[in-house]
Amino acid sequence: MPPKYRRVVLKLSGESLLGDLDHGISPVALTRIVGELERAYRVGTKIGIVIGGGNIWRGASDDASGIDRVTADNMGMLATIINALALQDALEARKISTRVQSAIEITKLAEPYIRRRALRHLEKNRIVIFAGGIGSPYFTTDTTAALRAIEIDAQILLKATKVDGVYTEDPKKNSKAKKYDILGFEEAISKRLKIMDTSAFTLCMDNKIPVLVFDLNVSGNIAKAVRGEKVGTLVH
Ligand code: UDP
Repeated sequence: MPPKYRRVVLKLSGESLLGDLDHGISPVALTRIVGELERAYRVGTKIGIVIGGGNIWRGASDDASGIDRVTADNMGMLATIINALALQDALEARKISTRVQSAIEITKLAEPYIRRRALRHLEKNRIVIFAGGIGSPYFTTDTTAALRAIEIDAQILLKATKVDGVYTEDPKKNSKAKKYDILGFEEAISKRLKIMDTSAFTLCMDNKIPVLVFDLNVSGNIAKAVRGEKVGTLVH
């Protein structure tokens, strides 16, 4: 079945690489995610990936360290570069062509982020991994994913998470919480549903980029998402 979406940005959290570990990159988790990515890639969709860094360093929320906020955020952005390189290596081991583009110049390891060059890579069927966040402190990789999705004219932002969608309430706290299949941006705001941070959410809403929230731990979900099959919650 051909893809419904010809171009997507996929947001992976750093946590998705943790597996059973407390910190760092689990080879088991990495292999599994790359297997999932390969299935989606073979569907024929052009894929940009934004990966977080929370498995290595959580930036400002690791503030117990006493490190200044800007420095802590810079360290968080570096953590995303480490994850991007791990993802690149694992994808290329499966003969999937990739490029890492970083918003922070680190030219010995990754190309600088250049939008037009990213578009060219996608045309050539390369997976582009956007590293280094947006290159500024006080932002998140969710915001990065929203921004890159807009910039590369992606049709959808795929937000891979640990839950299978957006619920009326926290399903861990209330067993009667119901999952939404489809949800409007305005409704999400009025009901104060937490989907992404406010800057990321606003960027998607203002630029009409739908967001699909789905469970990364269910095998085949990324491929299903790009084919447009029913999975997770679509916020539009
Ligand atoms: N970060 C930043 N600017 C950006 C993106 C990320 O300063 O544009 C920092 C921030 O400290 C953040 C950390 O990098 O906490 C890791 O990113 P994030 O928390 O979004 O990763 P995830 O939770 O998805 O693993």
